[in-house]
Amino acid sequence: MKNSILSILCILSAFVYGQEKDVTTNLYDTYEQYKETTIGKRRIKHVDIQPLIVKYTQNPKFIVQKVGESIEGRSLSLISIGTGEINVFLWSQMHGNEPTATQAIFDILNFLDSPDFAEEKKEILKHLTLHFLPMLNPDGAEVYQRRNALGVDINRDALRLQSPEGQTLKKVRDSLNADFGFNLHDQSTYYNAELTSKPATISYLATAYNYEKDMNDVRANAMKVIVYMNNIIQKYAPGQVGRYSDDFEPRAFGDNIAKWGTSLILIESGGYTNDIEKQEIRKLNYVSIISALYTIANGSYKEEPVEDYEKIPQNDKKLFDLKIENVTYELLGKNYILDLGIHRLEVDNETHDDFYYSSRIMDQGDLSTYYGYETLNAKGYKLKVGKVFPKSFISINDISKLDIMSLLKLGYAYLKVTDIPLEIVSTKVPLHLVSPKFEQPKLYMEIGINPTFFLEKDGQLTHAVINGFLIDLDSEKTNFKNAMIIR
Ligand SMILES: [Zn+2]
Repeated sequence: MKNSILSILCILSAFVYGQEKDVTTNLYDTYEQYKETTIGKRRIKHVDIQPLIVKYTQNPKFIVQKVGESIEGRSLSLISIGTGEINVFLWSQMHGNEPTATQAIFDILNFLDSPDFAEEKKEILKHLTLHFLPMLNPDGAEVYQRRNALGVDINRDALRLQSPEGQTLKKVRDSLNADFGFNLHDQSTYYNAELTSKPATISYLATAYNYEKDMNDVRANAMKVIVYMNNIIQKYAPGQVGRYSDDFEPRAFGDNIAKWGTSLILIESGGYTNDIEKQEIRKLNYVSIISALYTIANGSYKEEPVEDYEKIPQNDKKLFDLKIENVTYELLGKNYILDLGIHRLEVDNETHDDFYYSSRIMDQGDLSTYYGYETLNAKGYKLKVGKVFPKSFISINDISKLDIMSLLKLGYAYLKVTDIPLEIVSTKVPLHLVSPKFEQPKLYMEIGINPTFFLEKDGQLTHAVINGFLIDLDSEKTNFKNAMIIR
């Protein structure tokens, strides 16, 4: 008897579980209908989201309140919907250069506003009241930086509360006394899931509330929701979920909000191959957060085994944009084997709405415990210096007439140009543009230098690396973005 009841329960729960899986599949597949297309890149600003805030202010389904102002006077808005007893508070972009979840929040609002998924939404809005505070640090977003206009990290201001943005976050948290909190950030794209080459595209944390990292029901609930979300995201980014460090930080908001009794879920958006503007990661945020709201609303997360939380691999930071393995480097007449680890660092333009790359060698030597988004095993290949083309050109226009690929095949990495307009800081041509007094560099490999060199095999040049971008000289296949202007 006992057994048959148990098996019926199993069938029932499998049915419910199976249904939920279908809902999340539909969420992923129908995403484009709800994507807020007016904000499609990382460098978004306060002015970009104001029309959306106004739209929801005029929509009777939502309550929009101005809850504060940044130091430079930019409004902070709280958008609420739902009639449930369980309060869920979600805030994003406390760090100005972490915009992925801000975009996802507006996708979620579009979803909530639509007539679709009526049953699931009814369930969500009957049990939950949702409160969204997108872009908590608009002054930082304006100049695409982590800190606010005071130069402080708002996430280290939970105790001292000097920043008006931090004061607003505290005030809203206290007024809602939320049951669940979603603390939405971006993390470095160089994080991987520990001991694997996979980027930690999404990382989760059930934030600790003391140094001892103790467990209580509040934290266990956050862990169970994370287990639920992880099972879903594994389907779309297998192996690409990490667990963020749970070291307690007494000055951080997440840690304090957990201490104040909210089940606190940190979501960090990391990297994903060839997703420079993090739009696939934004989609995973969308699926992850809506799925979490659904499981919180119907209570199914309570059935998740809390111990599975610990099975999510830890975050590690072992990724390079480009890793070149086993290359031969000749120094003072002797050959040595090196791995090279290269990061393509972003430099903003003056108005912080676009950027170019200025790449660096970050490490060299035995990098066998590291991984690359792009990896070349250069065993049997020799490093060769890039040559300066002997002729000087007058202007950038003269260069557009050149057959650049054949110059690369001859080993040229630098072109002398007399007259480069001052406002030009990088070039789309895969050769560095240099002043006529630029001298032929020698081959040397050192941490911190711009990775520009060639690879040679059996006396033939096979690859160019220009500003950290690998160019296969045979296939001409490349993801090259820009080279540098060296005045
Ligand atoms: Zn952050």
